[in-house]
Amino acid sequence: MRGLLGDYVSMTERNDSKAQLALEDGLEIRTKSTHGHNRAISAISILLLLATLALLIALIIVSNAKTKNQSQLSECIHQTEQTCNTAHCVKTAANVIESMNMEANPCEDFYEYSCGGWIKSHTIPEDRSSFSSFSVLRENLQVTLKGLFDKPKLDSDIHAIGMVKDFYASCIDVETIEAKDAQPLTELLTELGGWPVLGNQPGGDWREVDYNFEDLWSKMASYELFLLVEGFVEVNEKNSMVRVLTVDQPMLGMESRDYFLDDSKYGKEKQAYLNFMKGVAKLLGADPTQVDTDMDAVLAFETKIANMTVPSTERRDGEANYNLFTLKELDEDVPQINFRKYFEALLPSTDTIVDSEPVVNYSPEYMRQAAKLIAETPPRTIANYMLWLFVKILIPEISQRFRDVQQQYYNVLKGTSSSTARWRECVDAINDAMNCYCRMYVAETFSGASKENTKLMITKLKQSFKTLLESNDWMDAATKKVAAEKIDGMQEHIGYPDWIMDDVKLNEKYADITITAGDYFTNVLQNMRLNSKIGFSKLRLPVDKTEWSTGPAIVNAFYSSMKNLIIFPAGILQPPFYHENSPDYLNYGGIGMVIGHEITHGFDDRGRQYDKEGNLIQWWTNSSIVSFKERAQCIVDQYSGYEMPENGMHINGKQTQGENIADNGGLKQSYKAYRLLEQNSQEAMKSLPGIDLNSEQLLYVNFAQVWCTLFRPEGVTSRLLTGYHSPDRYRVIGTLHNSDDFARVFQCSADSAMNSKKKCVIW
Ligand SMILES: [Zn+2]
Repeated sequence: MRGLLGDYVSMTERNDSKAQLALEDGLEIRTKSTHGHNRAISAISILLLLATLALLIALIIVSNAKTKNQSQLSECIHQTEQTCNTAHCVKTAANVIESMNMEANPCEDFYEYSCGGWIKSHTIPEDRSSFSSFSVLRENLQVTLKGLFDKPKLDSDIHAIGMVKDFYASCIDVETIEAKDAQPLTELLTELGGWPVLGNQPGGDWREVDYNFEDLWSKMASYELFLLVEGFVEVNEKNSMVRVLTVDQPMLGMESRDYFLDDSKYGKEKQAYLNFMKGVAKLLGADPTQVDTDMDAVLAFETKIANMTVPSTERRDGEANYNLFTLKELDEDVPQINFRKYFEALLPSTDTIVDSEPVVNYSPEYMRQAAKLIAETPPRTIANYMLWLFVKILIPEISQRFRDVQQQYYNVLKGTSSSTARWRECVDAINDAMNCYCRMYVAETFSGASKENTKLMITKLKQSFKTLLESNDWMDAATKKVAAEKIDGMQEHIGYPDWIMDDVKLNEKYADITITAGDYFTNVLQNMRLNSKIGFSKLRLPVDKTEWSTGPAIVNAFYSSMKNLIIFPAGILQPPFYHENSPDYLNYGGIGMVIGHEITHGFDDRGRQYDKEGNLIQWWTNSSIVSFKERAQCIVDQYSGYEMPENGMHINGKQTQGENIADNGGLKQSYKAYRLLEQNSQEAMKSLPGIDLNSEQLLYVNFAQVWCTLFRPEGVTSRLLTGYHSPDRYRVIGTLHNSDDFARVFQCSADSAMNSKKKCVIW
């Protein structure tokens, strides 16, 4: 999950972040459902649209009739099928056709076959490192939200809605932001004791005699910045009804530790990061010679820290990660750091902590090494480092000249050549910060029928998972029985939480926030402090497993292993994933696969470690675990073999295994669920006009078209180093390589590329 300002996980979502998995990497926001707009299309424009499409489709049919692949495929069309000729189906058919490349052979490269047209007709915007079908939905969502946030404030607006409009207005008020330049930032730095590198410039005046590590460290955490040693309050994985103090290794200034550690591969990126630090310090008036000395030391220090962190691929074993200490034991194990002082500064004064207070330590070895390094490092370097990370995330909130320096860094890291439009950044920031306010979005775009239909599909997908579970030949009966109980106990969140429609409750939720018109910087800081405070205030409170941890205006889906909960925000319940008027096979290729994907997360290499109550405990027999690991290794090896055409890098099969397992399970379950439906309904099988494919083939085409994507080479590097999902091309190809159903539906011969001889199957 992204926090208000970009890279940091916000505290209120932190509790879920370790165990909550998203359907897709990257920004979680942005969408416009077409429902509202369909209603607005006039009868005349529909007629015009139909006439144009009919012409287009006729042309396409004529041109495609000649292609070899197409004539092969048409042989397997079900004779009994009829065509769906509603306006929605005609429009959908045109979109599907435009995205395809029918010259390609589906049995050789199904990604090119399904997405070739889309890839040809799109380019990557200058401010993006990649662009995908998801991006289109997210950009549309931004437009919808802009329309809502931009509306003039009305006397009839409740307090909460009025505030979101004020917050947005303060963000797009570029004139005021430019006039203030760096002043809000330097005032903050002074308040925090000064940024040493600035000398006696505004925001500087740092004095070593006043420095204390725990003071600065806890001040940072009070703004949601968990630096060097992360210490916070999380749901206790071994007893998910309560919370516990936790400590862990930190996030770094660059998204992956590899950027710091492999100069032969990422020297350019590391240099750009150093230039970024130095550039910002100089713009704030620091002496150039001092900047070189100080920032070189900061980078050397952060590189040592990066080297001490454990790679994410080595952190997938929940039992091994979970190390229970008492506060006293932790203080003895890591004597250089005063954890008690830190937690006492952040917890509510009513929460007393004693020597026996439990603390879960997710990185004992890192903690010992880092504490020694911190004790040996000059305070000036540590203060320079911590404040640099704070400055870095606040750069989007100050004037353009600082953002230009940031853009030079992104140019190297992501390959982008311009910064994102201010209004888009503002929409995302406000949506992240106050996501419940997006009831404005729900009211405009989400229909009650979507919720009911999704519920029904979830029931069918769960049944599908259980049928496959029952028939698998590698898990013993005892484990199967408990696995079925986990499925039955899986909860769901669809669309949005009902309470956001209640004026009183919505106002209550945000009662502690005051938005100052014309002072965006202060509004942002206030939100960060509030999130931190809320997080730490929950230590002694029971966990409410029904609480929503995401907003409705998000194009993504999630699974929370500690709640055993699947989540489908309103933002994803739109085409190409779902539409109430779409033929069933499209919905099953779209949201059906997504539902199956999220369900399967409960049984991937990490999710399977949590029981039906969301507790980390071994509930599988040893022999079933051994069988699972063999099959998971097959998936790891398979995906590690895939190379990205953009830069020749390979996928990290270990890092992406959980998502790959979920993709494979999700598509299979959804296809099986659709087959059952099809057997009982001629309506479900009606194909699309102008496309010579049957309903089952179209299910696979829609599945693939959800993932049409363009990457810059830098975008691929960043995705492979930091993402938990395989790049989209291989989310399609990798999943289908393992699918007997797909090979049969497209009649792929035994020696065709898409029909792998070795198929990896778990669920
Ligand atoms: Zn996932």
